[in-house]
Amino acid sequence: MSLQYNTKMLIGASLEVGAGQEEMIYNPRNGSVIVKIAEASNEQVDRAVEAASHAFQTWSHTTPAERSLLLLKLADAIERNLVDYASLESLNCGKPSERMRQDEMPAIIDCFRFFAGACRTMIASPAGEYLQGYTSMLRRDPIGVVGSIAPWNYPLQMVAWKIAPAVATGNTIVVKPSEQTPLTALLLAKEISSIFPPGVINIITGRGEQVGSQLVSHPKVDMVSLTGDVHTGKKILQLVSSTIKKTHLELGGKAPVIVLDDADISQFAESIKTFGYYNSGQDCTAACRIYAQKNIYKQVVQELATKVKTIQYNKSDDSKNDIGPLISAKQQERVSGFVERAKASNHMEVVTGGSKVQGTGYYFEPTVIAGALPNDEIVKREVFGPVVTVTEYETVEQAIQWANQSEYGLSSSVWGSDIGKALFVASRLRFGCSWVNTHFLLATEMPHGGMKQSGYGKDLSMYALEDYTVLRHIMIKL
Ligand code: NAD
Repeated sequence: MSLQYNTKMLIGASLEVGAGQEEMIYNPRNGSVIVKIAEASNEQVDRAVEAASHAFQTWSHTTPAERSLLLLKLADAIERNLVDYASLESLNCGKPSERMRQDEMPAIIDCFRFFAGACRTMIASPAGEYLQGYTSMLRRDPIGVVGSIAPWNYPLQMVAWKIAPAVATGNTIVVKPSEQTPLTALLLAKEISSIFPPGVINIITGRGEQVGSQLVSHPKVDMVSLTGDVHTGKKILQLVSSTIKKTHLELGGKAPVIVLDDADISQFAESIKTFGYYNSGQDCTAACRIYAQKNIYKQVVQELATKVKTIQYNKSDDSKNDIGPLISAKQQERVSGFVERAKASNHMEVVTGGSKVQGTGYYFEPTVIAGALPNDEIVKREVFGPVVTVTEYETVEQAIQWANQSEYGLSSSVWGSDIGKALFVASRLRFGCSWVNTHFLLATEMPHGGMKQSGYGKDLSMYALEDYTVLRHIMIKL
């Protein structure tokens, strides 16, 4: 396969290589270096923000129809080059290329098309005389320059989630993809440079502590949007506190999965084989902590283990793989550390998997751990790997309490045949999303985002347009 990389960032009208430190970009299937990419220097970060600030003066006065047209053009360009984007992402992240082509790419294209349409349909309360002799009206105006920081687990998709609602509403943006996975964002940069006016969308690369923190702290950045770890979210809040920038935080998750005793266990296990292990579990919504009612617990463990054993992950013919490796050697060590500490306890049992895969590449065996207790480290902390725990509960109240006793609040699910009962449980869960008899699925029209330490930013849907705008009141004396 001969893939073309773009190693140049987009700053204003200029496609240019970074003038900062070189970063190795690895292929996680075998640990080899794909390419070296130099990160943005301080001067380049500064110039990217200046370009966005300058472009804001005109972009913020364009009509929704004008913005929409360019977003649609970008969606078409991505669709035309779908195979290149999918192959590049697959190379950089180790994702099976079939999954990229069939799952992520259509969702990415749809995100641009959705916001292209949605920005033309924003509505507010009617203008009127709420005080005698005065007319009040509302405006939803762009905020200014958005500094956006993306993670490595869905690199292009997260960049799409950041760019589309921000520019659709008249903001300009400087985006920094993860230093580990910049390749698809840079390919997009090239495409953007021939579609959008200079400075509306700028893409720079580099490490979080260096390039990321300079970007979010920049005095001309008006809003900061991050998808990343809770710890990074806290750091960014500290960095922006002195300037009171608006923040949009989409942080980690540790999704509880409550299996009621009338659930269809076979269907449940088949579903968790996908929803717990998709993207090798490197997903903030992964169905990773299962609570199974006492009288079905053994069957849940057994059926889940049987299904999980069939997950294909390091076949040389990539079309046969369900999942790929972990993103890095560091992530592989991290996941392994959680599992080894669980093994060392005397109450948990690794029912299937449980080890790093020997050989090249950062693979980890799809793993099921039974006998986990609510306060175990592996139940409480985000593992971000192909590891699912099962915990036995006695009463539904207990399951709800254990599910909710988490610092995270992104997503959750309930499984059962009695829909009234399942809905009752869902209504008691404190997570941004609760699925019933499914998990993981997103719709572009519906908001995605969390509560508690999973953050408060809403991506996708009309609610993202609200997040990327400021509500203003205009009052006119009659
Ligand atoms: P991370 O927080 O380590 O890195 C995310 C981004 O933040 C990277 O681009 C990184 O360079 C940057 N960064 C790091 N430190 C920074 C700093 N001090 N200032 C500015 N930028 C900084 O996260 P990750 O390891 O890339 O991604 C995995 C995490 O992302 C997981 O916790 C996962 O749950 C979360 N995530 C959440 C969602 C969601 O929708 N809630 C979606 C995907 C991933």
